[in-house]
Amino acid sequence: MSNTKVEDVVIIGSGPAGYTAAIYSSRANLKPLLFEGEESGGQLMTTTDVENFPGFPEGVMGPDLMEAIGKQASRFGTQILSKNITKVDFSKQPFSVFVKDTEYKANSVIISTGASARYLGLESEKKFLGKGVSACATCDAAFFRDKVVCVIGGGDSAMEEAVFLTRFATKVYILNRGEKLRASKIMADRAIKNEKIKLIMNATMTEVLGSDIVSSITMQNTKTNEKSNLIVDGVFLAIGHTPNTKIFKNQIKLDSTGYIITEPDSTKTSVDGVFACGDVQDTKYRQAITAAGTGCMAALESEKFLESKAH
Ligand code: NDP
Repeated sequence: MSNTKVEDVVIIGSGPAGYTAAIYSSRANLKPLLFEGEESGGQLMTTTDVENFPGFPEGVMGPDLMEAIGKQASRFGTQILSKNITKVDFSKQPFSVFVKDTEYKANSVIISTGASARYLGLESEKKFLGKGVSACATCDAAFFRDKVVCVIGGGDSAMEEAVFLTRFATKVYILNRGEKLRASKIMADRAIKNEKIKLIMNATMTEVLGSDIVSSITMQNTKTNEKSNLIVDGVFLAIGHTPNTKIFKNQIKLDSTGYIITEPDSTKTSVDGVFACGDVQDTKYRQAITAAGTGCMAALESEKFLESKAH
């Protein structure tokens, strides 16, 4: 089925980037159509207290913040559909986006599908998410003042998160599954030199233990398979992120790791009229506030694009 109406702006994704783009586009009277996807709200839906989003001196719960930004977008006329885009066609104007067999047409598209932090996939990891298990030290480190934590992973993110965690925690273990760290030498050295950090090589986590909150983990030696208990109050996963770009492959330029390539200081993608904002194009900052900032940029740039098309 095809909708004959051609929207000015279609926004795909509903984290801080997508909702902020919607606030700006709707206030510009463009009546954006936003597909919030099946997991509306993005990564903040899996966090508890957010203390670094400006405007909330006492902090705010991640899901509450997303609900509020979503409401703000609706207030100015954003049409929100709880549907997942399954296919796109950016080869011709107007662009087409599909929900299974239903086609929607748009003069401009803003992509804000985000990135998903990778998890090990353990049942217990899921159970303690937000109760000691986190995938974002920048967001949650402050909750672990004078506590003992562990970081899973051996890349630059793991090193950076571990060093950041030492500002609060008394002890930070890094569990690296292999013999060698993947992190760059400079980042690894910074972690190794830090007295609060202890690197455990050839180790992985097989279970998170606790009653209401995390109290320890089961660690397994990847060489001998020997298991042991490590007492920690928190677990930080730093095993990488996966950008949600599967449906954009062969439609716009992605980098070798799947992130959308945008022009410097811009949200423009390789297709004129298609913009990308938030974590789907950000391998560096990955914060709710930076995602919201680029969401604003995408809305302003799409508005300019539509204006230039009209003249
Ligand atoms: P990486 O892909 O570089 O590293 C992932 C790490 O997680 C590796 O040590 C990997 O182990 C480990 N890992 C993956 N899966 C599992 C698993 N199932 N169990 C246990 N361990 C696992 O991701 P990062 O997020 O660290 O970095 C992404 C990119 O961002 C990199 O290019 C990095 O350089 C960059 N970055 C730069 C920073 C900076 O310059 N300030 C800061 C943070 C990131 P293994 O090596 O065995 O595969």
